[in-house]
Amino acid sequence: MRKTNIGVLALQGDFDAHRKRLEELGAEVVLVRKTKQLDNLDGLIIPGGESSTFLKLLGEAGLEKLKSFVRMKPTFGTCAGAILLAKEVENPQQMGLGAIDIGIRRNAYGRQLESSIRQGVFQGSPTEMVFIRAPKISRVGPAVEVLATEGKDPVMVRQGNVMVATFHPELSADTSIHKAFLESTNNGGQRTGTSGSQSS
Ligand code: GLN
Repeated sequence: MRKTNIGVLALQGDFDAHRKRLEELGAEVVLVRKTKQLDNLDGLIIPGGESSTFLKLLGEAGLEKLKSFVRMKPTFGTCAGAILLAKEVENPQQMGLGAIDIGIRRNAYGRQLESSIRQGVFQGSPTEMVFIRAPKISRVGPAVEVLATEGKDPVMVRQGNVMVATFHPELSADTSIHKAFLESTNNGGQRTGTSGSQSS
């Protein structure tokens, strides 16, 4: 069986830690610098960085190409990637891909808490979460499933093939979040409900 081909958007920001993690887990990784490279990928990670810079670098055509990709294939956005995928962005308002029905507030933890490592819960297990100038999910639409929380806040959510986290799982030793994403790409992008695939 061929390896899963996963793209990591590599325009800017924290893409290399995702590449390493995905390779450790056996995926073939393509660092996507031109949206042309999206053809033939099984899934995509949009990493942390600066969401407004991503928008500038992508331009209108790049954004359109990315929009059609995320409609079809499993996509995981972390931090700035989550902001890019959200339907509504505040602080300040910003356009994006509108791919997941959430509201998200940029830089929501304020100056004193620009970055922090906290313990949240993912799939019922305590999980280390690294937050860097992180956004907060301020609204979760009815079709959106909450996968992880930190305190009372939803910090990782999914709707269909689109999953987002406000923290940086690529910076913690625990591989379970990237594993969950790779599992969703093995389902051929048809995933809608919760996982249940033991065999693959
Ligand atoms: N503050 C950044 C933004 O608003 C996100 C930070 C990150 O990705 N670590 O886009």
